[in-house]
Amino acid sequence: MKRLTIEQLLGINKFAVDDDQAHIIVKKEICALCLNKPCTFACPANLYKLKDGQISFDYAGCLECGTCRAICPQATAALSWQYPRGGFGVNFRYG
Ligand code: SF4
Ligand code: SF4
Repeated sequence: MKRLTIEQLLGINKFAVDDDQAHIIVKKEICALCLNKPCTFACPANLYKLKDGQISFDYAGCLECGTCRAICPQATAALSWQYPRGGFGVNFRYG
């Protein structure tokens, strides 16, 4: 059986992106004080990235797993996290 890469597996999913309302908002001023930035290696969709020393985040492609909220040491202050509105978000497909 052919083994797919993470990128290929993620590419199978469909996303209905809510352009009017982000379901996760990251407060970058709090992130600037975060030492290890665990979200950058824990998000399975790789949506948190470090660019020029600053956190960059795009909610499109979110798997709604909650890992970032669980692992963030400042989750209450740094993240506004909720599930997408009805009709939006990830639609998991298994090939
Ligand atoms: S772990 Fe939390 S506070 Fe740290 S960079 Fe990521 S979102 Fe920001
Ligand atoms: S909920 Fe999961 S997939 Fe979405 S941004 Fe957080 S860690 Fe990444």
